[in-house]
Amino acid sequence: MNTISKYDLKKKTNVAVQLPGTECLIKPKVPLSNLTSLRVGGLAQWYVAPKNWQELEASLEWYQSQDLPLTVLGAGSNLLVSDRGIPGLTIGTRHLRYKKIDFERGTITVGAGEPLARLAWLAAKQGWRGLEWAVGIPGTVGGAVVMNAGAHGQCIADCLVETSVVSPQKMELESLDVTSLDYQYRSSILQNDPRLVVEATFQLEPGFSPTELTAIVAKNLQDRTSKQPYDRPSCGSVFRNPKPYAAGWLIEQIGLKGYQIGGAIVSQRHANFILNCGNATADDILKIIHHIQEKVEDRWLVKLHPEVKLVGEF
Ligand SMILES: Cc1cc2nc3c(=O)[nH]c(=O)nc-3n(C[C@H](O)[C@H](O)[C@H](O)COP(=O)(O)OP(=O)(O)OC[C@H]3O[C@@H](n4cnc5c(N)ncnc54)[C@H](O)[C@@H]3O)c2cc1C
Repeated sequence: MNTISKYDLKKKTNVAVQLPGTECLIKPKVPLSNLTSLRVGGLAQWYVAPKNWQELEASLEWYQSQDLPLTVLGAGSNLLVSDRGIPGLTIGTRHLRYKKIDFERGTITVGAGEPLARLAWLAAKQGWRGLEWAVGIPGTVGGAVVMNAGAHGQCIADCLVETSVVSPQKMELESLDVTSLDYQYRSSILQNDPRLVVEATFQLEPGFSPTELTAIVAKNLQDRTSKQPYDRPSCGSVFRNPKPYAAGWLIEQIGLKGYQIGGAIVSQRHANFILNCGNATADDILKIIHHIQEKVEDRWLVKLHPEVKLVGEF
């Protein structure tokens, strides 16, 4: 591991770069299969996981000094990363963690890397209502804000007050009110937007019984684990539900449960999940996605759109 002087970086693609004034390293050729819930994907050309604002700022400064594309990764629980990896710099936000609780206002502000499910437990244990639905959703708060993650009829849009984002080019922090995010079913203006979510503030309702709220959270988790396959790597629901239909039902009705290509298989428990049996590639998973889309369109005249985000070259 070498320290390279500031900006003397362009051709040195095999040595980690220590960001000036921090302990943070930009690492070359990092396997993304270890950083995504599907456990597939090639290498990030460069990967950095800043732990605080100073390290994030230094990472963005490095990015600005290079002529490289930028990708943001939360916990990688809604991503299909190409077997050919991701060119340029990938910033992983999973270590950007902190919490600020405002007891008077009933708000919790957290860093983008805070796990959403952990926040759900924390709020319930405090007797603050509003996040009980979020317990079974893997991933970070940043990813959930971008995706408008949701379950049990509720979603991020219902309790987010505001989020702080930073533009990688201008490095300016900006606060976005929930109404400016144009939240819809699993979508927001932050998808296909270069800005990084740095933190988010949620409005909750204090004054409830922690015992009752934690029981609801535990029941929600139990409901999900009994209906959805949590025992094998996946990205959760692969397709958006094409209202008024449920994607899983459309897929199940045409007999695709158990359909397998290479190491990837359509779950027997929930047809909208594609599982990695251990040796799947991203290409196997993409082939199943295309097969499902074709068969569903043939049978139901409905086009299924992936909820999972494809990253890298396919
Ligand atoms: C078993 C399982 C069950 C699931 N169940 C649900 C469910 O019930 N409901 C649901 O909504 N989802 C579900 N998901 C999908 C996934 O958990 C959510 O979409 C989650 O919110 C993604 O968060 P993440 O941190 O993993 O984001 P990632 O998957 O890493 O990223 C998702 C998108 O957000 C962007 N992004 C991530 N962090 C940031 C950031 N800080 N700034 C800017 N952009 C960012 C990425 O670039 C990418 O475009 C499930 C997944 C699994 C594996």
